Amino acid sequence: MRASGAPASDVRRRIATELADDVPWNRVLNSICTEPHPLGVEMASAAAHTNLGDVRIFRGTKRIERRVVRLLLDLMGNPGGSGSLVSGGTEANLIALLVARESARARGRLTDRPEVVVSSTVHFSFTKIFGLLGLTPVVVPVDDSLRLPAGEVARRIGEHTVAVVATAGSSEFGVVDAVDEIGPVVAGRDVHLHVDAATGGFIIPFARELGHDLPQFDFSVDGVDSITIDPHKYGLANVPAGAILFRGAQDAGRFAVDSFFIDTPVHNTLLGTRPGAAAVSTYAVLEHLGRDGFRDLTRTNFEVTQYLVDGLRAAGHELFAEPQLNIVVVRMPHAVRISQLLESKGWIVSTSKRFGETLRLVVTRHVTPAMVDEFLPVLERACKE
Ligand code: PLP
Repeated sequence: MRASGAPASDVRRRIATELADDVPWNRVLNSICTEPHPLGVEMASAAAHTNLGDVRIFRGTKRIERRVVRLLLDLMGNPGGSGSLVSGGTEANLIALLVARESARARGRLTDRPEVVVSSTVHFSFTKIFGLLGLTPVVVPVDDSLRLPAGEVARRIGEHTVAVVATAGSSEFGVVDAVDEIGPVVAGRDVHLHVDAATGGFIIPFARELGHDLPQFDFSVDGVDSITIDPHKYGLANVPAGAILFRGAQDAGRFAVDSFFIDTPVHNTLLGTRPGAAAVSTYAVLEHLGRDGFRDLTRTNFEVTQYLVDGLRAAGHELFAEPQLNIVVVRMPHAVRISQLLESKGWIVSTSKRFGETLRLVVTRHVTPAMVDEFLPVLERACKE
């Protein structure tokens, strides 16, 4: 640390210089996070000092958190459930599997080798979680449509299984598992079904309302016990805003750790000190946009995705898979070199470590047709270099 402090103007200038080097959103085609809504940013800044870990001080902020959880439960078709706001998809998935493991223990169902059935495209956050919780993954290869096959799930559930994880919007492809088929297979087997909708939670409900043919994935599906949904992705809230939701009114409390002090409630989340600003930002955006606003955003999102797909096809590119949501994966010889060339020209895309020569383009809320029009010629030049 410096021996004596620098003037605020100096600190501001140096931070502004670093921030200016971050890639502007209009050059970002790889991120599931997007530019937060201006009202969310404004309200997060008003709540920058708040801490949801201390509910006696921040009682108004806590009320906002409870309201956000209710709004999200309502969106996921289960107003009577329970849940918590957390730091993001990783923490939400962790808490879901912790609750699954502890519920199995409470029912005398926990063996010496607890297993979780997952697909080969499940998000890598689960690799961290399996290590932390001492769970063994039973990995089911995805089918030709890149989905977790319900029949295989049924076959792999055994005496050690404590949970099955389905994904509603995979990170790599935006593919939605057939949760409506997996749910009935898991229901009645005394196994927790968790749906990781970190990516799709703020898209699929609205896309279904708009008539897109996507499977139902929420609590209306028999067997679904918990859902991860991330306001800091397509919910337009500030990072770090995630949520874990449970079917039962008491389920969120099944992982509960007491604090030292009287009148301080138990903690249901991994983090102790937690940013109230993220809850406030999420509340502001949900209230301001409402279902209509999110439906409009989703309509635009699908239109821009189609615009990009049409442009790519017109330029002769082949897609790796037909996009279900707003993630477009293109077959691309020399993908890594092309991605590096694009980055040298200011554009950020992803290339897969697991699926060969492909470019992954994410059409999130900040991607516009004008941006696609700028990008495609740069891609063509990079392909020819
Ligand atoms: N699950 C899915 C499907 C994701 O796409 C992601 C992140 O992209 C995560 C979990 C992890 O979320 P976070 O990075 O917010 O911890």
